[in-house]
Amino acid sequence: MTTPTARMLLRRRSLLAGALSLGAAMTTLGTGAGRAWATDGPLVSGCEAWGARAPKSPVKVLAARAQKIIVHHTATDNVTDYGQAHAFALARAMQTYQMDQENGWIDTGQHFTISRGAFVTEGRHESLAALDSGTRIVEAAHCTGQNTVAIGIENEGTYISEEPRPEQYAVLVDLCVRICRQYGIRPYQIYGHRDFNNTECPGDRLYARLPQLRADVAARIGGDPAAPVWPVLATGETSERVRALQYLLVQRGATITPDGAFGPATEGAVRAFQKQIEAGIDGVAGKQTWNQLCAPVAQGAAGAAVTAVQSRLTDLGFVTTADGVFGPGTAALVTAFQGSRGLPGDGVVDARTWSRLIA
Ligand SMILES: [Zn+2]
Repeated sequence: MTTPTARMLLRRRSLLAGALSLGAAMTTLGTGAGRAWATDGPLVSGCEAWGARAPKSPVKVLAARAQKIIVHHTATDNVTDYGQAHAFALARAMQTYQMDQENGWIDTGQHFTISRGAFVTEGRHESLAALDSGTRIVEAAHCTGQNTVAIGIENEGTYISEEPRPEQYAVLVDLCVRICRQYGIRPYQIYGHRDFNNTECPGDRLYARLPQLRADVAARIGGDPAAPVWPVLATGETSERVRALQYLLVQRGATITPDGAFGPATEGAVRAFQKQIEAGIDGVAGKQTWNQLCAPVAQGAAGAAVTAVQSRLTDLGFVTTADGVFGPGTAALVTAFQGSRGLPGDGVVDARTWSRLIA
């Protein structure tokens, strides 16, 4: 969830606690009917099972694969009711809170929720069907800047100083495995909410578990679990990396000249971008800024982000023309670059390849 301050967190906790008492008093808890995944996925109880309200307007189902997973905590109490009735009451309380209280969203913000008792519920309508398809994603409201490309998983509880329950964590691994398999997501594309927005979510303790989560998912599906590592670029630096940053900012609407010099105009553009994507606003390009800027590009793409790729390739010895058009020649050079860095040569500039280009 987006809870930048402790005050907001406390407010959310008390509001949700009230809603949960209300939910627990309700008698229509659903039948427990869910969708059983044949092999390795946890049972997910769909919106009908837990008694979801209809969305305020139709949810948007996008014809695209999810690119990543973002892990959250609900910032609610670490309850000891591990039953399914509580999991369903939580799902209803969150939907009510998100639609009626602070956010006014059309439906639940996240795609999936895992209760402390390790019950999984569908969040926003159609999320489960989209996951089953492997080719569609429901536009959500769990992480500013990532809602059209990332699957959001809320974990019930507050994990600032406490660990999630082992049962809850185990189901989180199972759910991530299933999502990665369905969409072809690599384990290093599992993030925490604070990797993108200015929030403490998913709490220090759950965030510290993410390297293990990536490793546990990689152990099941293969692949590299190491998250991308980003440099920190700030005012005063002049380099080809700064030029790439500037191209990426231009891609997102900044009106600056990519001259390789990190001056006041670039700092201003970074601040404006950080405000737009609800990152911490400091004018320094760090993890949140890079994670939000470096969307995947591949053959067929065009624009300033492609120019950034070509500019970096040339600087690293894979010489090309920075024309902003990602054709077969650029793809071949990206593949060669990936080979030189020990990465699978698929010609796609995803977060990991971006991070190696910028490093
Ligand atoms: Zn969050």
